[in-house]
Amino acid sequence: MRTKIVAGNWKMNKTLQETETLAAELAAKLPDTEAEVIVAPTFVNLTAAVRSLENSTIQVSAQNMHFAENGAFTGEISADMLLDINVEVVILGHSERRSHFGETDDFLAKKVSAALAKNMRIIFCFGEELEDRKSGNHFNIVESQLKNALFNLDASAFKSIVLAYEPVWAIGTGETASPEQAQEMHAFIRETMAAKYDNTTANNISILYGGSVKPANAREIFSKPDVDGGLIGGAALNSDDFIAIVRAI
Ligand code: PEP
Repeated sequence: MRTKIVAGNWKMNKTLQETETLAAELAAKLPDTEAEVIVAPTFVNLTAAVRSLENSTIQVSAQNMHFAENGAFTGEISADMLLDINVEVVILGHSERRSHFGETDDFLAKKVSAALAKNMRIIFCFGEELEDRKSGNHFNIVESQLKNALFNLDASAFKSIVLAYEPVWAIGTGETASPEQAQEMHAFIRETMAAKYDNTTANNISILYGGSVKPANAREIFSKPDVDGGLIGGAALNSDDFIAIVRAI
């Protein structure tokens, strides 16, 4: 059975002290949850977050990593560096990495393989732009993102992958996909997984929705049968809002 997950992507926010404060608030206020809870602080604050959350069930994720083992990649971070500080989860393919840093499906496929080779868990993000949605091309775009970045993998790899459908037009814009739009796309993703692999793989994979989820809309979005939780940006930066979203599941 697939798990319910709420993950917070803190992006380029929070100083060291703010990271420790937010992590401590979450640890204190979320002692037991039905959902898995994951937070992704910036690289420099991962160690502090791991330390602040070590006695809690909240897991710490990186927001990105490079596919190389090591070497001349100035400014980059490897899987081994993350594992060395007890970070075993990584977000890959976030739309901000794709749009601001030119990460393509092919490039992401290499990162996915590298993370899997190190037994890391991946939250893999994808989703269409507004023009794709307006032109009715959103299903094709999502299918091609999955195909190009993930469909070279064996079915067994998906035990370590969480999918995060994040329509780009809904990220940080305050505009959310309606619960029906989210359900429609999540069902399509599951059908696409079943067609490529099998029903078990499709039914067991957690598919998160991301894009302006807030305490006010989380419950309705999470109530949809193919929505297994959320990847939360802005609302993850405040402990009360994030906790309300976790409780909504
Ligand atoms: C995100 O960046 O993954 C995200 C969903 O952001 P927000 O919740 O702010 O739209």
